[in-house]
Amino acid sequence: MEFHPDSGLEAFRQEVRQFLRQHLPSDLAGRARSTRSPAAEVRRWQKILNEHGWGAPYWAKAHGGTGWSVPQMLVFDEECAALGTPTQDGFVHKLLGPVLNQFATPAQKAAHMPAILAGERLWCQGFSEPGSGSDLASLRTRAELDGDHYVVNGQKIWTSYAHESDWIFLLVRTDANVKKQAGISFLLVDMKTPGITVRPIRSIDDCHHLNEVFFDNVRVPVDHRVGAEGEGWSITKFLLNNEHASAADLPALKRYLRELHQLAATQQAGGERLIERPEFALRLARLEAQLRAIDMMVQRVAALEQEHHPAAHTLGSMLKIRGTELQQQLTECHVEALGDYGAVAYAHPHDERADDAPLPLQDAARGLANDMFFRRASTIYGGTSEVQRGIIAKLLFQL
Ligand SMILES: Cc1cc2nc3c(=O)[nH]c(=O)nc-3n(C[C@H](O)[C@H](O)[C@H](O)COP(=O)(O)OP(=O)(O)OC[C@H]3O[C@@H](n4cnc5c(N)ncnc54)[C@H](O)[C@@H]3O)c2cc1C
Repeated sequence: MEFHPDSGLEAFRQEVRQFLRQHLPSDLAGRARSTRSPAAEVRRWQKILNEHGWGAPYWAKAHGGTGWSVPQMLVFDEECAALGTPTQDGFVHKLLGPVLNQFATPAQKAAHMPAILAGERLWCQGFSEPGSGSDLASLRTRAELDGDHYVVNGQKIWTSYAHESDWIFLLVRTDANVKKQAGISFLLVDMKTPGITVRPIRSIDDCHHLNEVFFDNVRVPVDHRVGAEGEGWSITKFLLNNEHASAADLPALKRYLRELHQLAATQQAGGERLIERPEFALRLARLEAQLRAIDMMVQRVAALEQEHHPAAHTLGSMLKIRGTELQQQLTECHVEALGDYGAVAYAHPHDERADDAPLPLQDAARGLANDMFFRRASTIYGGTSEVQRGIIAKLLFQL
């Protein structure tokens, strides 16, 4: 594949920069890190984007989106990351949204889309269960029909942001007597429904993103099911088959490298700047070389994805492995480069203990230890590296 500078894309980049200069409030700039922004910021930023016609950057025009190409979406993500805008709700924009656009009834779309676009309805993903992660089809949370409702009982785990989401999209077992994939259905559930209990799991970064979610006789109207009963597995395959080009989180990688360069140019170690130390300069150069290789691959996958080419799937798995490994290496290097400051974590905005008091450490260190610890999980969530290697072995090498 040949890469040439795309003048159209460059013009689009300028348009995005101009948009962000005009519409990103200064108190929302520089806020995003590796996880979803706090709910209030996600809602506020979503509302601003929507008011200016950019509320759904990843959807086709026919579905109320901007209709951008995959390379344009990447440019948008990159420019937002460069300024540290709050995140959007990735679960709804990148995963659930395409499902609703494809499979939801007109009534379901009317019930959800306006609130989603206005930033009034945030979502979490209720797939994983204790014992059902990589082997998702073995899930046991059951939904039994009772008149025009399902009665849901069971438990989900690792449910990111459940504690500050309005709705959950949920995989449930509606038939235990058929092949396991055939007995799964896809439900949309209001988190305020009686019988739902959310319990926090504090992760290694000492923050609260993750939860256990318990369902105890939770009554869900049948018309909150997306697709037919038993169609949940094929809907899930559709959902998981999106967004290969963003698997590496290239905008975050670029931000990490940029920050590392800034730090290396200023941080002193043994009387000299870090960048003047050959071993550090070499390490930085190696990280940068890896990032450039990933960048090229992202452009390649974006082009394939734009054409709905099946190779995007295998290459997406490679990107997920290499991108998440690089996220870990960059954040580790960052924390090491900070010396003593690197050990200082911050009170994360998701955290109920957080306050806005200034922290007694240089700004560069704020939150980096948290990021480094959080990124330990990147080779697990979104499909573990081992499972990605299995996909590559099967699809690329027919093993
Ligand atoms: C930070 C974080 C956020 C998450 N957020 C969500 C969320 O919002 N919603 C949600 O539903 N889930 C979420 N998850 C769960 C995530 O999807 C699962 O952790 C992941 O799918 C792995 O499942 P598991 O934890 O059950 O591990 P297991 O599947 O039990 O895997 C254990 C080990 O066995 C290996 N393994 C498993 N199967 C194979 C195989 N076939 N071949 C080779 N090796 C294999 C794995 O690679 C791993 O090393 C999150 C996880 C994390 C860490």
